[in-house]
Amino acid sequence: MKKEWGKPLTSVQEFVPQEFIAACAADEDYVTYEFWCDAGRGEYKVWLDSNTNDQYDGGDQSITIGTTYHPCQETHSVTVPKGTSIDNVFPKGFIRAYLDLGIGGFAYGDYIPVRIWRGNNNDNVHCTTQLHESQFHISNPS
Ligand SMILES: [Zn+2]
Repeated sequence: MKKEWGKPLTSVQEFVPQEFIAACAADEDYVTYEFWCDAGRGEYKVWLDSNTNDQYDGGDQSITIGTTYHPCQETHSVTVPKGTSIDNVFPKGFIRAYLDLGIGGFAYGDYIPVRIWRGNNNDNVHCTTQLHESQFHISNPS
């Protein structure tokens, strides 16, 4: 049987990027915030600063659950992917006394600026008067 040489095939090897690596997140890809649930000393109504203008107005969404909110006075650990905007994790909002037991520096009737955490299932309300990212304790700052 006569052998014939076939026409050599030109082959170009494609580079396939490792696109699955990103899904495999390590611990250092997350950051844990300690959220002090400390806003107020009584019963409050709660609003999100929906239009993000740093003041209470008619554009803000009421998110009070039930009749009133009162702080847990606990520290909630909240773990999110690193780089997640603090404004998404803890949006700004306001509380206003419904039954005021006194909070330093605020007059009855004031709309008190807070940061809000909606809980792990995004269906709850927790508020802190620690307004800035630097005021949150970061327990995994790697
Ligand atoms: Zn709480």
